Amino acid sequence: MEIGSACLRPGFIFMTVLTGGISDKYELVVGLEVHAQLSTLSKAFSPDSAAFGAEPNHHISAISLGHPGTLPFLNKRAVEYAVKMGIACNCSINLNNSFARKNYFYADLPKGYQITQDTQPICIGGSVHVRLADGSAKDIAIHHIHMEEDAGKSMHDNHSEDSLIDLNRAGVPLIEIVTEPDLRSAEEAGQFLTETRKLLRYLDVCDGNMEEGSMRCDANISVRLKGQTTYGNRCEVKNLNSIRNVQRAIEHEFARQIAIIEDGGHIDQNTLNFNADTGETSVLRSKEMANDYRYFPEPDLTPLFLDKHYADNIKQAMPALPNELYKKYINELALSDYDASVITADRDLVLFFEELIHHTDNYKAAVHLLMGPVKSHLNESGKTIGDIGVKAENFARLIKLVDAGKVNNTVASHKLFHALLASPDKTAEELAKELNLLISNDSSDVSRYIHDAIAKYPDKVIEYQKGKKGVLGLFMGEIMKSSKGRIDPQKTNQLLIKELESK
Ligand code: ADP
Ligand code: MG
Repeated sequence: MEIGSACLRPGFIFMTVLTGGISDKYELVVGLEVHAQLSTLSKAFSPDSAAFGAEPNHHISAISLGHPGTLPFLNKRAVEYAVKMGIACNCSINLNNSFARKNYFYADLPKGYQITQDTQPICIGGSVHVRLADGSAKDIAIHHIHMEEDAGKSMHDNHSEDSLIDLNRAGVPLIEIVTEPDLRSAEEAGQFLTETRKLLRYLDVCDGNMEEGSMRCDANISVRLKGQTTYGNRCEVKNLNSIRNVQRAIEHEFARQIAIIEDGGHIDQNTLNFNADTGETSVLRSKEMANDYRYFPEPDLTPLFLDKHYADNIKQAMPALPNELYKKYINELALSDYDASVITADRDLVLFFEELIHHTDNYKAAVHLLMGPVKSHLNESGKTIGDIGVKAENFARLIKLVDAGKVNNTVASHKLFHALLASPDKTAEELAKELNLLISNDSSDVSRYIHDAIAKYPDKVIEYQKGKKGVLGLFMGEIMKSSKGRIDPQKTNQLLIKELESK
């Protein structure tokens, strides 16, 4: 459960060759340790800024440098964030928790010890609900969540002879979420991490950015024969920096460990490194070389006694969580499993959706608007939904125009949608009128478009009459183009068929 730092010596690389079928005899067993950097303004035990990305060694003080005589004092916000995540993971909050010292020597740990929680972590038990591709679901049990401080960062590639140390990260608050050895596939591990990251982001306690290291994962991996009740020896792969790499490391280890056992060998309980370029693991340290951390109660911090009301108040102020919203969307709004999953995957979008459904009952159209044109625009522009300035109510008006048959759906999600982005202060109706996007109610207009299209493709009319109904699409396309979308597609389609059949 230590944070990654001492990953220096490249060991030998494990190669894996497994012939198909053998792996079916074995079961994979995985337990994850997820480190999440809490997005507090200051560090866990000092007022230094906890912001990411500053010039090296600019967010430091005598406390984070571990100068003698300094004393830590606990960041209240870090405790609140840990409790929030604990509640979201159905943990019981350990009202009497305490800190411990974990001692080890490393250049990016100036105090010579890390303040962490050992025997009395802040959250105990709990689970995270995951849904799998085959439609099944599983509650992944959490062993505990504890608070700790991060170490600094060592950089070994920036200088020809020396390693460089940046202590900005030293003392940044973390929570570590430790699962039971409950995961049975790389897919389950991926889903667990996706759900955990979603919870962290919903609660706004961690940005969940694995590339920047604000969420990191160690994977404990073992295999056993199917039906066996005891666990096999495990290896721990350190510091995986993407969900994909966690899955790759698990798949690699599953095959590697089986190959060793099949060969009559034995799995040594090693700490491993994962090479993202090769997809292989190598030994970082063996059990014999394991550190003895000499944990003892942190003498400079009193145990943390929390009041039950404190945890209750935090619970009450918490937003609806993705799983609750998912259930509401399925049961109350009758959205499909797919729509409910995609809309709850993104906290900003779901908050906007919650507002949008105050103004429209067409929930399906609301999802499609957000997941279609809105999401593509956000992806292209790099903006967030808060940046675009169009109010949820105005999007609801756009949906109403389509539902009332006043604007055609394609026109609404392209021309009118972009017009709204350009003039967010105007209503959808105003813009539809201004830009002449309203469907023409004049039936003579529609007849004219139909006649023109038919006149343009006389040979296609003959094909239609011979039974090639597919040419309808060509006529509709032509009519759409000449009317600039200002027709009701359904009505026009019916009139077009009538016209073609009367020929
Ligand atoms: P430590 O790393 O301090 O020894 P634990 O023994 O509590 O801590 O285990 C840490 C992680 O390893 C947990 O996520 C746990 O689920 C997982 N784990 C423990 N035993 C196994 C095993 N045999 N196979 C896979 N994962 C395991
Ligand atoms: Mg561990």
